[in-house]
Amino acid sequence: MEITKEELEKFILQSGATFVGFSDVSSTVPQQLKGLQFAITIGIRLSDAIINEIDDKPTFTYFSHYRSVNSFIDQLTLRIMLFLQERGYNAYTIPASQSIPGAKTPYSGVFPHKTGAVLAGLGWIGKNGLFIHKDFGPAVRLGTVLTDMEMEPCDQVMPSKCGGCNLCVKACPAYALTGNEWEIGMERSRLVDAKACSEYMNNNFKHIGRGSVCGICIKVCPFRRKTMK
Ligand code: SF4
Ligand code: SF4
Repeated sequence: MEITKEELEKFILQSGATFVGFSDVSSTVPQQLKGLQFAITIGIRLSDAIINEIDDKPTFTYFSHYRSVNSFIDQLTLRIMLFLQERGYNAYTIPASQSIPGAKTPYSGVFPHKTGAVLAGLGWIGKNGLFIHKDFGPAVRLGTVLTDMEMEPCDQVMPSKCGGCNLCVKACPAYALTGNEWEIGMERSRLVDAKACSEYMNNNFKHIGRGSVCGICIKVCPFRRKTMK
């Protein structure tokens, strides 16, 4: 049973996603997933009230929120996968939060959510190395479903709007951010020292968020604050 992109989008938004985007990732998808060249990116907006409580460390509430949102994203991508599969398409869910030991790029999963989000024209990569949504800033979390359902991708990549801002670079307690401005195709290592970030979280925040959350470089971003009333 064929479905249109509009029908799929309606299903995803009615299922609870804050936003959705579509992209052609045939040039970046891993070899073993080559048949699944289209990415469906979904996003959930985080609670500004919870992020506002972050100061020089994450809060227990933020850690719980982070895990709840990841769990919700995994439920949503599962629903999308089932929706597509029932209609005769192949679909593959990327876990909301995944870091595979021994991955070619350390601290990464099967496919980066940020790649699909950027190629879908939903935002850019900030100097904090995070996806910055055009309306909600970095206060979002992403999910991805790869599929062989052909759809018209957006593919209008937004340039960085960080400009002269360096708030996240200055606020990072791990000195993990280089201050470089992102361009399409740039290696993550030119923006973020992922090892320094991870080690800092492990050494300092393990008692709060098992070493997997921080949130400081989300809290300080002016693109997040612009969305607050
Ligand atoms: S998550 Fe924390 S330690 Fe990592 S880059 Fe952001 S501010 Fe720095
Ligand atoms: S805090 Fe400033 S430099 Fe960092 S991601 Fe936000 S806009 Fe870009």
